[in-house]
Order: sequence, then C-alpha cells, then structure tokens
Amino acid sequence: MITKTDVIERATELGFQSIGFTTADPFESQKEILSSRRDAYGKPISLLDLEGGTDPKSVLPDAKSVIVLVDEYFRESFPPEMEAHFGRCYMDDDRVTRDGLSLRIKAFRSYLRDNGIDSKVPFNIPHRLSAARAGLGSFGKNNFFYSHQLAAKSSWVLPIAIVVDQEFTPDGGTIAVDCPDWCKNACIVACPTHAIKSPNKLEPRHCISFLTYYAREITPLAWREPMGLWVFGCDHCQNVCPRNVPARARKLQPNQRVAAKAPFFDLTRLLLMDVPYFETHIWPHMFYIPSKNIWLWKMNVARAIGNTLDRKYVPHLIQAFGENEDERTLGMIAWALGRLGGPEAESALQGFLPQASGLVKEEIGMAIAMLAA
Ligand code: SF4
Ligand code: SF4
Repeated sequence: MITKTDVIERATELGFQSIGFTTADPFESQKEILSSRRDAYGKPISLLDLEGGTDPKSVLPDAKSVIVLVDEYFRESFPPEMEAHFGRCYMDDDRVTRDGLSLRIKAFRSYLRDNGIDSKVPFNIPHRLSAARAGLGSFGKNNFFYSHQLAAKSSWVLPIAIVVDQEFTPDGGTIAVDCPDWCKNACIVACPTHAIKSPNKLEPRHCISFLTYYAREITPLAWREPMGLWVFGCDHCQNVCPRNVPARARKLQPNQRVAAKAPFFDLTRLLLMDVPYFETHIWPHMFYIPSKNIWLWKMNVARAIGNTLDRKYVPHLIQAFGENEDERTLGMIAWALGRLGGPEAESALQGFLPQASGLVKEEIGMAIAMLAA
C-alpha cells in the first residue's frame, strides 16, 4: 500500500508543487449555502449539480480521502491584449484539448490505479474548499482561494480534488478568510457590477464572469459600461487585491501556447467570426458557450468594442451589423456604434433605422440619442 510520502513524491515528479490530503466527509456548510441560494444561482448553475458534488461518496461510494493537487496557471505571462478581455484561468484551459494539465492528472491517476487505488476527479466537488480543508491555502473576501505556497501566494491557482478509495491521514486545514485588516475590502469596492454584496457573499447573476457565459438576454444598459472590456470571464477583483500584488510584480517568461492563439482572439476577428472559425479556434479553449449561442460571444465582443472608445472599430461594427441576425447582437452593435460615435457611426445608425424593428429599432434609437447628447 502506498503512503502519503509516495503520493507526494509522484505528484511532485509530475510538476505539482502543492499537495494535501483531506477526509471524504461531506462539505455540509457548502451544501447548505448552495441549497439556500438555488434561486440566485439559477438554471445554468443548477445544471452543474454543485449540490451533488458536496458529498464525495456520491461520486465514489467507497471514498475514503480526497487528495488535492494545486496547480499554478499564472506561472508564465500572458499577452496583455488577452489579459484585457479574458479571465486568466481560461487562457490555457485544456479541458477540451486535453494536451496540458489533463495529461499530468491522467498520469497521476494511472499511478494511483497501478497501486490499487480507484479515483475520480469530479468537476462539481468544491475544489477550493477541498484545498482549504487540506491546509493548502485560505480564502479572500472575493471568494477566491489563495495558495499558501504557489504563485507568490496569490489566487491564480487551480485546486484539483481527487476522490480516492484509500484512506490517508488528513492534513490539518481550516476554512478561513485570511485578508489583512488594513485592506478595506478593495475587491468589494472595485467590483464593477457590485456583485460582491458583502465579504464572501457573491450575487452570481451580477458577476461579469457569469454574465459573459450565461446571459440569455441583451446586457441591460446599466451594466454595459461597467462590464468594460471583459469578453469571457473577469479578473478584476483579483487584479485589485493586495494579496496578489507580489504575483503580478514577478517577471515571467511568456506563455508560448497562449501567445500562439492570441491572434485568433483579436476583437475584430471575434466580431466577424463564423461558426466554423468559432468551433476551430475559440470553443476548444473557452467552451462554456456552445456554437448555437455564438450570438452571446458577439454581443460580448460588441459591448467590449464599444468600451474601447476606439473608432477604428466602426467599419467592423457596420460590417457585423450586415452579417448578423440575432437581435441581441444587433442591438449591442448599435449601442457600440453610439458609444464610439463620430460621423461614420451616426450615418450607419441612421441607415439601419428604416429596416429595423423591435429591440434592434429601440437600441438604434437609443444609440442615436446617445450621439445627439
Ligand atoms: S469576477 Fe468581476 S464581476 Fe465578478 S465579483 Fe469579481 S470583479 Fe466582480
Ligand atoms: S481585496 Fe482585500 S478584502 Fe478583497 S480579497 Fe483581497 S485582501 Fe481580501
């Protein structure tokens, strides 16, 4: 039977530098939170069955322990043009391509299997709570998990919880918020959509990350400017956090995988992309939005373009208006043209108006009014 030392040695060989162990006891506090907030999380989150993941035995009936590996995803630098629009955790996400972190997890599970241990890596187990319970870090008031060891003790880490059927002595860990007293809730103050209502109380439906993946309607007017340049995800409450300053100050080597894909994520190309482009170049890396909802990507991009205040995008918005049909995308393109302004944008909006109806007509009218103001 392999020991904790053996497991740590193999995980370290595979590049994991922070490894901990906790029991397979249910995460009761999380279950209560999820159950009391079903309405706030809504349908998209309920489909993930997060409540089901709060009991490790529901995924592996003989579960005895949870091994937690923490990986650092911000160990190399990302192109600034990507950091402006995408959450860092998605930039090198290989959950579809299976050509990076997944291979290391697979190798680790093979090692466990070769030593008689069955394992599961459920996506819906509370990964951050598992890591805290295994003594590997603490929480911030922004709900992110901060490593005790990796990425200059920052939140740009990914805990991976592996449920196993062999018992290992648990490491002493507590679920604690460890923000310094002198930080006067910078994350709460800075959240552009006021999604963090109070320490560790997030209203998911107001969070930019949630809105960029799961919106079903055109983004309400009041949130379009606050959502700024974010297209998929949001790192703002991590960027402003003083606990993350040391990580951001590091001089890092560029992440070549992300640098290679960055040209495909250019805002103009995203605005004008068709489904084959999306399925080839975008979805495999940022996959929460299926191709049938490509309108959502385009709406997010149009809103971000409006917020660049850069009129170089006006011809691309005009072209996109002619190539799209979804009224939510068209409405946002109109808004972006109104926000960018200038004679070319105004003339285009006036030209679109006679053929428009419903939501699109309303948005064009508002955009023209915005220009006049
Ligand atoms: S991810 Fe962005 S929108 Fe969500 S809580 Fe943090 S700052 Fe607010
Ligand atoms: S910004 Fe301040 S309150 Fe928020 S997580 Fe960071 S240290 Fe904690």
